[in-house]
Amino acid sequence: MAPAPFIPFALPDIGEAEVQAAAEAMRSGWLTTGPNAAAFEREFAEFLGGGREAIAVNSATAGLHLALEALAVGPGDEVLVPDWTFTSTAEVVRYLGAQPVLVDVDPLTLNLDVERARAAVTGRTKAVLPVHMAGLPVDRRALRDFADEHGLKVVEDAAHAFPVRSGGDLVGQSDSDAVVFSFYATKTITTGEGGMVVTADPEMARRIRTMRLHGISRDVFDRYRSTKPSWHYEVVAPGFKYNLPDPAAAMGRVQLSRATQMRDARAAIAARYDAALADTGLGLPARATEPDGHAWHLYIVRVPGGGAARDAFIGRMADAGVGCSVHFIPLHRHPYWREQCSARPEDFPVAEDQFGRVVSLPAFSSMTDDQVDRVIAAVRSCL
Ligand SMILES: *Cc1c(COP(=O)(O)O)cnc(C)c1O
Repeated sequence: MAPAPFIPFALPDIGEAEVQAAAEAMRSGWLTTGPNAAAFEREFAEFLGGGREAIAVNSATAGLHLALEALAVGPGDEVLVPDWTFTSTAEVVRYLGAQPVLVDVDPLTLNLDVERARAAVTGRTKAVLPVHMAGLPVDRRALRDFADEHGLKVVEDAAHAFPVRSGGDLVGQSDSDAVVFSFYATKTITTGEGGMVVTADPEMARRIRTMRLHGISRDVFDRYRSTKPSWHYEVVAPGFKYNLPDPAAAMGRVQLSRATQMRDARAAIAARYDAALADTGLGLPARATEPDGHAWHLYIVRVPGGGAARDAFIGRMADAGVGCSVHFIPLHRHPYWREQCSARPEDFPVAEDQFGRVVSLPAFSSMTDDQVDRVIAAVRSCL
């Protein structure tokens, strides 16, 4: 009998409707940012509710950069960033010449430890950039209290957190200055590459829209359109090239309409893993506490023993036909961040300990029941 096909760690959940929508956008002749991007922004804002503005960009990294730029983060400023994240979260701080300050995380949720963040505040701290790790929201109340205490700006890295409730509302509806979502190929909804910045502040939205496209002021453009020819525009700042093309936005609109269904599919996979792996000795992912939810972007287990045992487990899973991954290599372990942040392993005891244990199992929405069964069987035999 031929071996069953390899189960990849992640696969995008793209159907015929997404293919059709992207194809229609291409046939329309409008390939760059246009009517589909505008509609995607409107529909995304409506999905979240609460009078937010949504600004489509070509990555979450771009969105985080634009949000911090709009908050005037610059040289001399410090921004608190969890040590446990992808390099994007910290690199955007460096784009602006500011200094990321890495903060250790909670051992269960792997989210920013607010107590440790409090201890890291200095006179130069300007903002905090929490990550909703794996799709489990940070404690919104604790974060708000902390930011208010020290007058800090808050930009949420919500790359894993769409759609999910936090404190009763969806992530994206908090009173943070901005919330940034990712539509990268492996994320909970995808446009291949893409992202969305959400803010309730019209001034911030205006700055982000301007800087997203070369610093061209659309307002100026619009104001003079009636009296000046249509080729006229004004550059008001050295902006960036961060706009989302229409075929990608068209795909995103379909993904958005399926976001809840896909989240429920991932939650069902997580529930099956929880039940089937409870007696294996694996550490299971933290649960959300009411009224929060979980977006289940990632299903992260802890392998007992850790270190070499974890690495061997991933190797045996691959031999058994299952792709696993590790999220994340803590920032302080990367050469650039170690040097830039003068980071010593002993300053990150939780991340150091957890890093040796974590494994992400496949948990994408298009997984079949049979694939979930095979992952469970592989885990049991590989432990
Ligand atoms: C994927 C990811 C990003 C970056 O998203 P892009 O859209 O690829 O720029 C940022 N932060 C976290 C935590 C991520 O997982």
